[in-house]
Amino acid sequence: MFESRNPFTQELYYSFSPLSAKELEIKLSKADLAFRFWQNIAIEKRIALVSYLSTKLLQNKEKYAQLITQEMGKIIREARAEIEKCAWLCEYYAQNAENFLANEIVQTGAYKSYISYEPLGIVLGIMPWNFPFWQVFRFAIPTLLAGNVVLLKHAPNVPMCSIELEKLFREAGFEEGVFQNLMIETDLVEKVIAFPTVRAITLTGSERSGKSVAMLAGKYLKKTILELGGSDAFIVLEDADIEFAAQNACTARMINNGQSCIAAKRFIVAKPIFQKFLESLVEKFKNLRHSSPRQENADYSCLARVDLAENLSRQLQQSLKIGNKLIHGKVENLDTFFTPSIVEVWNYDTPVWQEELFGPVAAVAWANDEKTAIQLANMTSYGLGASIWTKDLERAENLCKQLEAGSVYVNSIVKSMPQLPFGGVKNSGYGRELSVAGIREFTNIKSILIE
Ligand code: NDP
Repeated sequence: MFESRNPFTQELYYSFSPLSAKELEIKLSKADLAFRFWQNIAIEKRIALVSYLSTKLLQNKEKYAQLITQEMGKIIREARAEIEKCAWLCEYYAQNAENFLANEIVQTGAYKSYISYEPLGIVLGIMPWNFPFWQVFRFAIPTLLAGNVVLLKHAPNVPMCSIELEKLFREAGFEEGVFQNLMIETDLVEKVIAFPTVRAITLTGSERSGKSVAMLAGKYLKKTILELGGSDAFIVLEDADIEFAAQNACTARMINNGQSCIAAKRFIVAKPIFQKFLESLVEKFKNLRHSSPRQENADYSCLARVDLAENLSRQLQQSLKIGNKLIHGKVENLDTFFTPSIVEVWNYDTPVWQEELFGPVAAVAWANDEKTAIQLANMTSYGLGASIWTKDLERAENLCKQLEAGSVYVNSIVKSMPQLPFGGVKNSGYGRELSVAGIREFTNIKSILIE
């Protein structure tokens, strides 16, 4: 059963039976039929639907935000911001898609030669619960505008969000079969991947699920995009504004109750300012207001599931056993509740440095010099994002190149935005979402030459 459960109160709202294999086959056939007409309709019509979708999102912002808060515990202010960001993405692609997908003339000496961006077929999105609307919009909007149709396999703890998403697309005028929600268990995912007109899979989630899905996709020779975890470094150089950096460190760590792939997780601070930075960060953590996610002034609430809080507790306990020091917070969880915590790291061969900390725990270390700071930042199997805090912008720009990450921001927390490509290197995955790169990932980049 898929359960819609409030993680703050543990109240169970609804439960749903998963689709049977037969019901799944019907949905796959619908997607197949939908692709045949959707790929041929004018881009202007697709754009008009996406614009209307944006209007519907904003009209119903409160309803969707409340649903997100109820199902996965995001504080309500952030849930509203998530819906606004989805609308922003729709508007961005509505304005730019035609241009991004237009034929590109290439001079080859032939009578005519050009690149044409054509749809692939059905694209399966396997999505997580942490941004239950945004992650879906981020892949679905460019994918649909490029002429593909979408199947969504959402995380099992956000079933109401997945149902509302399909309803929203239908109400905005997308024809039947163009965007379908599949409430299926993991063992039916192979059946979807094997379906002939499913041409690509995009997954956002853990490294473990990324590997499983990539293996299955390899078996059937289907393209994959993987947006996996991150353990972003937040590097504070000795000339940084300490107060500004500490305030941003707290924000970057606590976003979404600490459950974001691009949250800063490892803080590397120049030794001369380390103590001051740490004191300031502890102060900020102490001032965080804990409350129900529905409270307007809450800074944090709870994690989305008990097992996530238990895992965080395990990571922290193991790390303290080998000599690292708890500076602030607690190691034990209480159901889904986890006290925001800070650990000072000496021994880097430890879960808080080597694994993804998917909750409000900051791992803090000092570095003697710039070279060590970069080495510590790259001392992870992940490579999603990183940020550098300094007044010396030229120095920062040089350091950007040395960081093994898909995005590096200077004097800003790492955040995704429609205009810039988003994705990782190393075990954070491959492929890019957003911007022109994101809309072309799920196209057949066709070369046409006429002599
Ligand atoms: P998962 O990666 O297990 O889940 C994400 C999505 O992948 C869900 O829809 C899940 O569905 C699906 N999935 C998982 N395994 C498979 C599989 N073998 N085949 C097909 N689909 C699969 O994340 P969790 O929710 O369990 O979180 C665990 C950890 O993952 C977190 O602690 C965090 O470290 C990381 N994570 C990172 C995210 C990010 O944004 N980078 C987002 C979410 C999690 P189902 O559960 O039904 O299999």
